[in-house]
Amino acid sequence: MRVFIGLGANLGDAAATLNAAVAALAALPLTSLTARSKTYRSAPIDAHGPDYLNAVAELETALSPVALLSELQGIEQAHGRERAYRNAPRTLDLDLLLYGDQVIATPELTVPHARMHERAFVLLPLQELAPDLQIPMRGKLADLLAAACDQRIAVSA
Ligand code: AMP
Repeated sequence: MRVFIGLGANLGDAAATLNAAVAALAALPLTSLTARSKTYRSAPIDAHGPDYLNAVAELETALSPVALLSELQGIEQAHGRERAYRNAPRTLDLDLLLYGDQVIATPELTVPHARMHERAFVLLPLQELAPDLQIPMRGKLADLLAAACDQRIAVSA
């Protein structure tokens, strides 16, 4: 299955954290890393703290969606994520954005990720990897990105 993972970090050495997280994704069982976007810098949305660094990774995996989510949470915890309050600054956030073209709505997992279609920090790196992508239930990536063009984001130096 072709899947996309959103990565975000805004505490500590965020660039190093993202690189380590991508390496951890590449090392997951039954999984290979097929692509990784550039690193982007974005302003926090509904959140506090310094700018975020964001990236998107593309994987080919035989893990189920729930097994993959569990692996993502394990990687987050390995990076000492602290959840003091909702949307608190975080060492590492990993989101399962897309799992093929599957639509999943369970208490623990919503795919496509519930807010990805309105976030430039997801859509822009995703466009780099898959410019012609259609997001299930949401439409063309390029159209979604046009609607999010007021959000501050740039390729990180
Ligand atoms: P967040 O603060 O965005 O990392 O949310 C973490 C929670 O969102 C976890 O309890 C997950 O079970 C839930 N969740 C639902 N859908 C997803 C998804 N597509 N990717 C990651 N976490 C998800």
